[in-house]
Amino acid sequence: ARQAALSAARGPGRTADGQPVPLYANVGSPADLDAALAAEAEGVGLYRTEFLYLDRTRPPSPEEQRRAYRQALEAFPGGKICVRTLDSGADKPLAFLPVPAEPNPALGERGLRLFRRYPEVMAAQLDALAAVAEEGLQVMAPMVATTQDAAWFVRACRDRGLPSAGVMIEIPAAALRARDLLAHADFVSVGTNDLSQYAFAADRQLGAVSALQDPWQPALLDLVAMTAQAATRAGKPCAVCGEAAADPVMACVLAGLGVGSLSMAPSSLAAVRAGLAAHSLDQCRTAARAAQAQPTAADARAAARAHLPGLA
Ligand code: PEP
Ligand code: MG
Repeated sequence: ARQAALSAARGPGRTADGQPVPLYANVGSPADLDAALAAEAEGVGLYRTEFLYLDRTRPPSPEEQRRAYRQALEAFPGGKICVRTLDSGADKPLAFLPVPAEPNPALGERGLRLFRRYPEVMAAQLDALAAVAEEGLQVMAPMVATTQDAAWFVRACRDRGLPSAGVMIEIPAAALRARDLLAHADFVSVGTNDLSQYAFAADRQLGAVSALQDPWQPALLDLVAMTAQAATRAGKPCAVCGEAAADPVMACVLAGLGVGSLSMAPSSLAAVRAGLAAHSLDQCRTAARAAQAQPTAADARAAARAHLPGLA
């Protein structure tokens, strides 16, 4: 039966015993929407909006923005579309949003921080989103570090009547204080790529330290577990939208840690859907506990695998 589940899983993401784990796509351009649909994503869990701003000398017009957001909503009628506001900075500089040169761009004015310098850019993006908003639209900010960050962003969303405002958990301080962030935000979405980078002080663009970018690092699992627990206690959703979710073994572990939905590159959806369908939520929980109890990344993955038969 497990072999059958591994090869034939279709439809919405769920564990073998029927616990829903919605599976969404990460999308970085309108063209990616087709891949997301072809892979039977249930919606978009991370809509990266940088494409609207790159390689140009002025900000995108309101109409251009509205068209892009509408296109995503229309691709998944009734489904969820989680739009991340612009995540730019000295690491991904934009001609019309200059930032003074920084010695450490990953630690500088990127993500939500750039909107402190350019509040009118945030206003324009949230206005465009509010103009097309419908029930499935979620909006979230990247690089949220503090409760004040979350409160500021969520307030700006509420002022415009946006139906759902969340924050990404990409900075260890935000994971540690997820409870306080969730006093403001409607949901959290863990960006494991940046959360690894900042938890291990290891530049994600630097091959020499890439072993530290391993999501199986037990300290990273702890930060995700802490975030998921805070969300459960707050009665609000916790998603993971970093690359970690694309590994079927990790996807089961994330579900076992209490993460409610997963978003990933469309090409990874089928394997993750099949992996979840072949294991019960209890198995996922046992695998998660076993992984968290290990001292190293390799041990953590091996321990999880031992509880999730059939997964490579
Ligand atoms: C992340 O940091 O995990 C994430 C999803 O965002 P990005 O990779 O775009 O920084
Ligand atoms: Mg990120």
